[in-house]
Amino acid sequence: MRATQCMRNSVVTFSYTPAVGQMRAIARVARNYREQALKIYPWICGRGGREFTHANLRELTVHHRDHDHDNIPPDGSNWELLCLYCMTTNISRN
Ligand SMILES: [Zn+2]
Repeated sequence: MRATQCMRNSVVTFSYTPAVGQMRAIARVARNYREQALKIYPWICGRGGREFTHANLRELTVHHRDHDHDNIPPDGSNWELLCLYCMTTNISRN
């Protein structure tokens, strides 16, 4: 009886751990592609033309042109920098 209980516990632990690791990996990728995009592109909103500095950079978001967040080409061609205002407008239009 005790051995069965042990097995069950270890299975639960095993299946849970990779999921947490995966979540962390996704969060890390999300942070990385934003940094990548900010290195490649000038800090200007692609729609409104508003310029950004370190002071308000958090209002500048990375938009995926094809809406596929997993499509991350190394040259950044799937990205577009948009301010929060244009991002919201853009999403509601599509
Ligand atoms: Zn804008």
